[in-house]
Amino acid sequence: MSNKIIVAGPCSAESFHQLENVFRFLSEFDEVKFVRAGVWKPRTRPNAFEGKGEEALQWIKEIQKLNTEKSFMIEVANPEQLELALKYEIKNFWIGARTSVNPFTVQEIADASKGLSDIQFWVKNPMHPDVNLWLGAIERFEKAGINRVNAIHRGFFVNNQNPFRNDPNWAIPMQLKTIRKDLEIICDVSHIAGKRNLIQDLTATALWLNFDGIMAEVHPNPAEALTDKDQQLSLEDFNLLLNFIKNFGSMSSLLPGEIVHYRSEIDKIDFEIIKLLFERMKLAERIGEIKSIFQIPVFQPERWQEILSSRPAWAEQSGLTSAFIEKMWELIHNESINIQNQTIKATEKNASKKSV
Ligand code: PEP
Ligand code: MN
Repeated sequence: MSNKIIVAGPCSAESFHQLENVFRFLSEFDEVKFVRAGVWKPRTRPNAFEGKGEEALQWIKEIQKLNTEKSFMIEVANPEQLELALKYEIKNFWIGARTSVNPFTVQEIADASKGLSDIQFWVKNPMHPDVNLWLGAIERFEKAGINRVNAIHRGFFVNNQNPFRNDPNWAIPMQLKTIRKDLEIICDVSHIAGKRNLIQDLTATALWLNFDGIMAEVHPNPAEALTDKDQQLSLEDFNLLLNFIKNFGSMSSLLPGEIVHYRSEIDKIDFEIIKLLFERMKLAERIGEIKSIFQIPVFQPERWQEILSSRPAWAEQSGLTSAFIEKMWELIHNESINIQNQTIKATEKNASKKSV
């Protein structure tokens, strides 16, 4: 059995039936320590499904009786939500990324939790990569006298959601781990991924990096989910993920965590390189169209000479070998030429169709 803390459950509590179904399923697994369920949902725009609120708290209280060993964990974003949830005997809370970013709100929730020795808070990182703001939110709960305060890494806001919905920026949680060795830090792979098919790889990275556990969104029917449908795992997928986590222990002595971290950074860079190459080829295509109009030959020896002398020189300035960059630009330039030839052919074909 894996010693990792697994928190799993739906993004949102949607109905009694949905929640009971997923709770019964998750209750079968020893590894699952908490069942998560969003009761109030922070939505980007109004009028989206904003959670079932108090009604969901009633379901939770009822369903909790089925198995008292699996505690529910919900998000609270203000003191009123905390107070209401406490009435329904909920004891585990996560603080969302949109809340941990705001010290005033965190302080208000911390004040409302003073003297409650039997509850725990799991603080998600703030939306932007500021380790001190994250740490500060954790400390506010500690100062309020909460004994069990832990952290959840859920990635950081990015404009471009490719490949991940939220940037894992692993250096930040690693920094938190270094500053606070005593904290349990789990990784919310669902909110980093944004897409189901990325979750297993992210889980592998999180395990290599020695996170204390994983948070994953699980829904009995993800396609119909009211929130985050692209990233929630079906019950079968969750079962597979759990097996993956359990078997991971036997592989984990093979590679040090840093390699995994650097590889994920390399993945990001490669992704950017490919995007830039695509943009470069689009420009070449436009040039191809113009060359076709003015009947200029595709291959321009002076331009090629200029590329061949400038790029290797730039490479040397930045510490790369000129031979490597020369080879790369031969490939790139060839591809540009191919694209331009295709563009010209296509333009000529269109022109001859029109003249028929
Ligand atoms: C969630 O866990 O459902 C959630 C809204 O999380 P976050 O605060 O990480 O966006
Ligand atoms: Mn969610």
